[in-house]
Amino acid sequence: MITVRVPAKVNVQLGVGGLRTDGFHDLANVFFAVALGDEVTASATGPGEGVTLTCSGPDAAVVPLDDSNLAARAARLLAARHGLAEPDVRLHIDKAIPVAGGMAGGSADGAAALVACDALWQLDTPVATLLELAAELGSDVPFALLGGVALGRGRGEILDPLPVTGTFHWVFAVADGGLSTPAVFRECDRLREEAGTGSGDTDVPTPDADPALLAALADGDAVALAGALANDLQSAALSLRPSLAATLRAGTEAGALGALVSGSGPTCAFLAKDAEAAAAVAEALRASGTCRTAHATHGPVPGATVLP
Ligand code: ATP
Repeated sequence: MITVRVPAKVNVQLGVGGLRTDGFHDLANVFFAVALGDEVTASATGPGEGVTLTCSGPDAAVVPLDDSNLAARAARLLAARHGLAEPDVRLHIDKAIPVAGGMAGGSADGAAALVACDALWQLDTPVATLLELAAELGSDVPFALLGGVALGRGRGEILDPLPVTGTFHWVFAVADGGLSTPAVFRECDRLREEAGTGSGDTDVPTPDADPALLAALADGDAVALAGALANDLQSAALSLRPSLAATLRAGTEAGALGALVSGSGPTCAFLAKDAEAAAAVAEALRASGTCRTAHATHGPVPGATVLP
């Protein structure tokens, strides 16, 4: 039996280019891995049982347990790459990452299942191959393997690790219900059309990483990082879920250095001065009635890791 711990991500910068003819957007995506994470356990089963999947945690009821689950898809993809037929494996997801929350929870489970099955089946797949399989599963999956902080380009799947000093303290406010990532991208395009700027890749400049943000990470400067936080999907998420404005305000009024919607939302992320300030912001958010719950955590942390 192998258990893998895998982090959620927050995008400290999410620059969204225009809509490409292949339906994707070019991104300048600074991923940051946080200690809030899932655990995926892979165990052997009898021959012919196939892939079975169970899930525990507060959001377990809304996690799909069919073949669409990224953990199950990852197990089959890894087996196929090694020329194995339908694998027999029991996968259990202990889920702490909010579902459809903009924190790449499904992608995290896909990455964790790759690592867990690789260890269970003693395949010793090279990291480069795991990263390739991860990119096939989804744009956010390679980062969950890597962890730390990284700049993602293309659809987000071309990754360069970034230097970071020290630990940053975060709070995540979890909303009731999720937001569909494709719907948020569509709303971003619609808002750009409405504003008259156009939404195509010839209308919108190709996004690039913000040098001030990269310097803040390298220097371990939380105040500077708070000032540089940026998410081009935020106005689209707020347009689809206007109540998030009150959540962002509540965390800021409680002393957060900076606030933004995490990825495509609706989870909101707050940067705090230290662990004590993060605990206070989380407490104030829980009391504010503007979110379902709030978690204080920290990062960066490593990517998908086998637990001893
Ligand atoms: P991202 O930030 O990568 O856009 P997200 O955090 O907004 O993603 P996820 O939690 O990854 O969203 O879930 C998006 C959808 O993926 C869910 O609504 C669910 O149908 C599907 N899904 C597939 N596998 C999983 C999984 N292991 N855990 C949660 N959702 C999953």
